[in-house]
Amino acid sequence: MSTQDTEDIELPESLSYHDWAAAVREDRLLGQECGDCGHVSGVPSGACQECGGRDLTTVELPTTGEVYSETTINVPPEQFEERGYQVAVVDLGDARVMVRIEGDHVDIGGDVVLSGHIDTDDDHPAPTFEPAE
Ligand SMILES: [Zn+2]
Repeated sequence: MSTQDTEDIELPESLSYHDWAAAVREDRLLGQECGDCGHVSGVPSGACQECGGRDLTTVELPTTGEVYSETTINVPPEQFEERGYQVAVVDLGDARVMVRIEGDHVDIGGDVVLSGHIDTDDDHPAPTFEPAE
């Protein structure tokens, strides 16, 4: 795997959901780092989830991480063809992000890598991860 250079996309100073979603569609993950307490969030927010600070800087998150917790979502078969899917809270650098898992089941502590994204019906993209080799 090669290190990701910062490409020609500028990081927005203030991360909106639109910016975050656009990045997900390009298989990039953006987050926000708090200038007050250093907390890094993996979802756009108007204020730090830890301290409420508003001195937030947009940062690019790593696309590999480690599973912090996982669970399997079972969906009603009449609405979805899939039986169920696994979601995991993944540590990406300093951020902790909930993602959907594709492919093999992952366990807590396992290494995962960004595999792409899915677009849900309501036009909300979600990053997907798979077990790292
Ligand atoms: Zn903070």
